[in-house]
Amino acid sequence: MAEKLYMDQMYLKEWDAHVKSVSQGKFVVLDRTAFYPKSGGVAWDTGTIKRESDGKEVKVIYAGKFSGKISHQVEPEGKIEKGDKVHCTLDWDRRYKLMRFHTAAHVLSGFFSKELDAKITGNNITIKKARIDFSLDDFDRDKIKEMIEKSNELIKKDLPVEVYYKNRKEALKDPNMVKLANALPPKVDKIRIVDIKGFDYQADGGCHVKSLKEVGEIIFIKADNKGKNNRRVYFGLK
Ligand SMILES: [Zn+2]
Repeated sequence: MAEKLYMDQMYLKEWDAHVKSVSQGKFVVLDRTAFYPKSGGVAWDTGTIKRESDGKEVKVIYAGKFSGKISHQVEPEGKIEKGDKVHCTLDWDRRYKLMRFHTAAHVLSGFFSKELDAKITGNNITIKKARIDFSLDDFDRDKIKEMIEKSNELIKKDLPVEVYYKNRKEALKDPNMVKLANALPPKVDKIRIVDIKGFDYQADGGCHVKSLKEVGEIIFIKADNKGKNNRRVYFGLK
């Protein structure tokens, strides 16, 4: 498995790597990567990969996990080969937006679970908007808007967001650890924890900003009622 640089260096924008394999001329596997692959309902990173020997550059248009490997889809095809030494660069504007949205989703879900006792059932985060699904007995738009107001108040307090690891057994004893209903973290010995200090923490493999103020302001877009287990809220960022 490639070294996942995005797990511990969320502000890393450029790095060197070696190409482990290329299939169909366009699916590139690296020995180390900071390209976040589409997972956990969060969109993928894009950017460029440049071969050191001749400066040839390709665009990374998609990153995903396939058979346990992080695969980078590049264009044009056929330019990068197995064994190449490369320099990678993230499209930082896109990644940073996703980090802000993802962190905002933590704050909102924190309030949904603490104040409304809702269970988060899904989420979808893109660079334009984000969606959180949750189960809730009463569907009340005003309540949802109130949670957004509370979230924005908390964001202004600028709490630090920390990432650390805990032993799996110990971590999973804590019922607060797993927020997404029916989603247990992968079978690894150490569980990665994302902790908005003094507010909420959870097992999580994604990228977040390091302090809440970077999120900006959450804007309510709409709320849809798709049934008791699928109340949906869409939000943007300012
Ligand atoms: Zn997260």
